[in-house]
Amino acid sequence: MKIIDGKAISAKTKEELRLEVLGLKEKGISVGLAVIIVGDDPASRVYVNNKKKACELLGIYSEEYALPADTNMENLLGLIEELNGRSDISGILCQLPLPRHLDEKAVINAISPEKDVDAFHPVNVGKIMIGDFDFLPCTPAGVMRLLDEEGIDPEGKNCVVIGRSNVVGKPMSMLLLHRNATVTICHSKTKNLSEITKQADILVAAVGRANFVTADMVKEGAAIIDVGINRLENGKLCGDVDFENVKEKCSFITPVPGGAGPMTIAMLMANTVTAAKKQNNL
Ligand code: NAP
Repeated sequence: MKIIDGKAISAKTKEELRLEVLGLKEKGISVGLAVIIVGDDPASRVYVNNKKKACELLGIYSEEYALPADTNMENLLGLIEELNGRSDISGILCQLPLPRHLDEKAVINAISPEKDVDAFHPVNVGKIMIGDFDFLPCTPAGVMRLLDEEGIDPEGKNCVVIGRSNVVGKPMSMLLLHRNATVTICHSKTKNLSEITKQADILVAAVGRANFVTADMVKEGAAIIDVGINRLENGKLCGDVDFENVKEKCSFITPVPGGAGPMTIAMLMANTVTAAKKQNNL
């Protein structure tokens, strides 16, 4: 059994990107990311700070727009429109979730698809569906990178994804399908879940429930990717998989923290570099 070191693979990916950003700078191309955060949700603040730090590490120019919780749609859409038009900003992301009075869908739709580094805009979601994409959704793309780095080829394998969110489960399933896996998507209405998960050569858990995937749900020798991030009562983070017991049965497993999580930011940086290149016809 091997524990997949997401931190190390993320660091390697970021180092490759740092060199790429340096190369682009030498050609006179700057890479810039604008991050919008509305309100003072502590988890969102942590994510935004981490994104800022990653930009600094990679030499990506970054701007943060911290808007008050009572910001209205007009102001938010006005800011996005201004950022859409700026040539020094390659990527724009608006940290979700937004306060309830704001229309998340309208905000996602307002970001220019060419600058949509989260790949949430319907144009980019559609492109992922048909397999002709520029940006990959960050968390599923990070999982694919982990599989590739470990030499785990999805082709012809039974892959089971638990979770069907637009952010993780659905795009994850599409990326596996594009790589010729046979994919089953499970959700809260799935019957006989463990019968299905036991067929999985690659099992991706994106549920949001601590210790949801237990050893009896896992096939001997499977690769287990745990996307879940759950905070326990004692303040510790854990994934969706009962790590201690499942690790005895599988061939590969990602820990939480330190598995799929660190890859998400690396892939956001990759999308920002891609955006800058595309906008400069590279
Ligand atoms: P979400 O929108 O809440 O989706 C959870 C999915 O799990 C839903 O599709 C739901 O089914 C399914 N589910 C819930 N209970 C289930 C059950 N008993 N059996 C089978 N399926 C069940 O969450 P998300 O945004 O996809 O995130 C999932 C987890 O990944 C969370 O812990 C989140 O924090 C984490 N996450 C991590 C990263 C990262 O960077 N690593 C990024 C994003 C999210 P229904 O559709 O039927 O409700």
